[in-house]
Amino acid sequence: MVSKSVLSRLNVPAELEAWVAYRLINTHIRASRAMALGLLLNLIVIILAVGSSIALPVFAYFVIASLIGISHRLWLANGIARDKRRRHAEKLQYFFTLNSIWQGAHMGALVAIALPQVSSIAQIIMVLSIATQFGALAYTSRTLPVAALWHIGALGLGLSVGLAQLMTPLAWLGVVLIIAANLVQANMVKVAHKSFVDRIINDRELSESLSTVKMLLNDFESQGSDWIFELDHHGRIVAANSRFAAASNLSIAELNGRDFFSLFRDGSSNKELSYGITNREVCRDLVLRLQDNQSADERWWSVSMRPLADSIISGSRFRGVISDISSEKQAEARAYHMANFDSLTELPNRLMFNTSLSQKFRDEQSYCRIALLMIDCDHFKSVNDMYGHPVGDKYLKAVAARMVETLDESGLGFESRMIARLGGDEFAVMLDGEDVGDKSIRLAELLVTALKQPFRVDDHEIIGGVSIGLALAPDHAVSANGLISNADIALYAAKDAGRGLWEMFMPGMDEELHKRHALARDLRTAVPNGELRLFLQPLVNVESGQHVGFEALVRWQHPEHGMVMPNDFIPIAEETGLIVQMGEWIIRTALAEAASWADPHSIAINLSPIQLQSPNLIPTIMNALGETGVDPGRIELEITESVLMKDSEANIAVLNKLHSLGIKIALDDFGTGYASLNYLLTFPFDKVKIDRSFVNDLESKAEARSIVGAVIRLANELGICTLAEGVEHEDQLQHLRQQGCDMVQGWLFGKAMPADHYFQTQRVLQKTAA
Ligand code: C2E
Ligand code: CA
Ligand code: CA
Repeated sequence: MVSKSVLSRLNVPAELEAWVAYRLINTHIRASRAMALGLLLNLIVIILAVGSSIALPVFAYFVIASLIGISHRLWLANGIARDKRRRHAEKLQYFFTLNSIWQGAHMGALVAIALPQVSSIAQIIMVLSIATQFGALAYTSRTLPVAALWHIGALGLGLSVGLAQLMTPLAWLGVVLIIAANLVQANMVKVAHKSFVDRIINDRELSESLSTVKMLLNDFESQGSDWIFELDHHGRIVAANSRFAAASNLSIAELNGRDFFSLFRDGSSNKELSYGITNREVCRDLVLRLQDNQSADERWWSVSMRPLADSIISGSRFRGVISDISSEKQAEARAYHMANFDSLTELPNRLMFNTSLSQKFRDEQSYCRIALLMIDCDHFKSVNDMYGHPVGDKYLKAVAARMVETLDESGLGFESRMIARLGGDEFAVMLDGEDVGDKSIRLAELLVTALKQPFRVDDHEIIGGVSIGLALAPDHAVSANGLISNADIALYAAKDAGRGLWEMFMPGMDEELHKRHALARDLRTAVPNGELRLFLQPLVNVESGQHVGFEALVRWQHPEHGMVMPNDFIPIAEETGLIVQMGEWIIRTALAEAASWADPHSIAINLSPIQLQSPNLIPTIMNALGETGVDPGRIELEITESVLMKDSEANIAVLNKLHSLGIKIALDDFGTGYASLNYLLTFPFDKVKIDRSFVNDLESKAEARSIVGAVIRLANELGICTLAEGVEHEDQLQHLRQQGCDMVQGWLFGKAMPADHYFQTQRVLQKTAA
């Protein structure tokens, strides 16, 4: 109770009160034996001084009471085990206080009674003895101030009463002095107690924080990848620990005294470190690459350090922490690679390509000399469909490798270049340097040629080829996006022009492209909306001059653009796959048309390679034959050389099937593709159609004459009928007749016209006959 109120007045935190009380009582007990001895000595001195001056029973009472008090104090100090003191701290304080009151009261009373009765020398001894006790109590008061104050007060009172009885001025002066001294002492007791309590609380906090720091340091060193190091003011390693040694692959002896810098490779962070040491500044999270030659991977440390504050003790040292961040750095590098490179070809990806291109445009000086090649693999989808994705992937890898090789061996010497895979079968090349316009054209030419060569992938021979769109900065664009979209436009133009080609961007190309996109959109509804028209062009027998058949040529009656010619929409229909649906309409309409004729003229129908691959082709033809009742022998299907180049086995199987139905097969546009006479042997064609370009050149070019002659002779030998297309003049007809050509077709005999143009009169006659 006593101590609590005192402690709360001292602002001791509530949770520490019990602990402080325990500390106080413990300290007090430690001084108790010495105090008991002091009290005993005092008692002896007082006994000697008082001697027989007072009545023996009184004297004996005081001596015995004092001895009881001393014994009680010794018992309090030693009788209670240490571990029980904590629990009984408050009680002990209370009993010590009672003991002090007992001691003070008896000694004070003895002095008060005895002082007037003893000799003056004994008086002096008594006063000195009490004064000594005041001194001793001043010391013990720090632990139990209340007890000490009672003790001092009782002694002071006793001494004052004793002196007052002498009734001399000097004695009164003594009383005043004692009262004054006691008051001063009471104040000192309070101050001593407060500073003692403050000190033990501070000590406790300090030792707690020290043990926390120790614990943290232990944890830090035993776990994690970090360790502490120390440098002297020259930057040499001091007191290296085993963790440091293990991490650096050096022994502690090798580390100590070694220049810290020598552990790292040169870099900007080394300069910061050096600056920090020279100027005694804090360095934080410096990332340094290790000089370590023993491990295969790159190793990185993050170093933080500060100069030690107490330079007298530390000798201007630095202390800091090192973390091994190699795995973070490696993960970072892997993430960078994954984000910026294509995993299949190991080429930069679209992200990196776009970033680099934008960077080039930001760099004002160089943007005026950039060439961009957008590259697209022709027929990649078919490669994938035909051989499966694993082969498709290998093919793309081979394409990438050949592109890199072509670029490397081109000898064109670009200032900088990047080849990237933008995704799927799309690649891009960025070039920079003098004469980049001319050089990029040469490179495009080299790439187109190199990639036309067959690839060997898992026992398959793949003939692919690429289309390339070219655009230049600043001629065609002054921004990265502008350059990319113009190169894309040129790429579409290259694909339109027939693939396996390159095209340089031209202003206006994009308009063409827009038109094309719009047509592609409208084409989807052309068949359901009934916008297709069937035109016929007569096929003429050279000898008789009679119409013996007609070629079906399709037109598109566009609601806004009017009549659209097949060269403008057939390629789109082929690209979008709409040709299959369209082809079915043509087959049905052409057969229905032929069925309505009085004469059994033949009907020639053009087939796209894509139609030939459609599983619907044969059923469509058979249905149309069934519905119209047209004799299959009147039907002629026209295919081009490209059908024999790609997937030729499957295509030839389809042709054989059609042949077996009695349908005739004609080889169209002969001479425009690879113009190989061998193609005439790959299938038993019924007819070969010599392309218009040869007929056109008959009069002017001897070469054309000899080719046409050779084709007609070979076909005659093979028993294949020959037809020359695009005959516009009588001279051409004469020439063809001389060469032995069987049939002709051209404006000389009639243009492609709606069916009515050739059959109106005939139908009127039919109707009237009926
Ligand atoms: P093609 O099969 O070679 O058809 C002959 C083309 O030459 C036709 O053009 C015809 O109008 C044109 N022509 C005929 N005689 C002469 C002439 O004396 N002088 C000139 N300068 N040209 C002549 P058209 O109708 O524009 O057809 C172009 C191409 O479109 C055709 O070439 C053919 O490959 C394709 N095509 C037309 N109709 C169809 C079709 O129904 N299906 C498929 N798949 N393709 C078709
Ligand atoms: Ca044709
Ligand atoms: Ca033709």
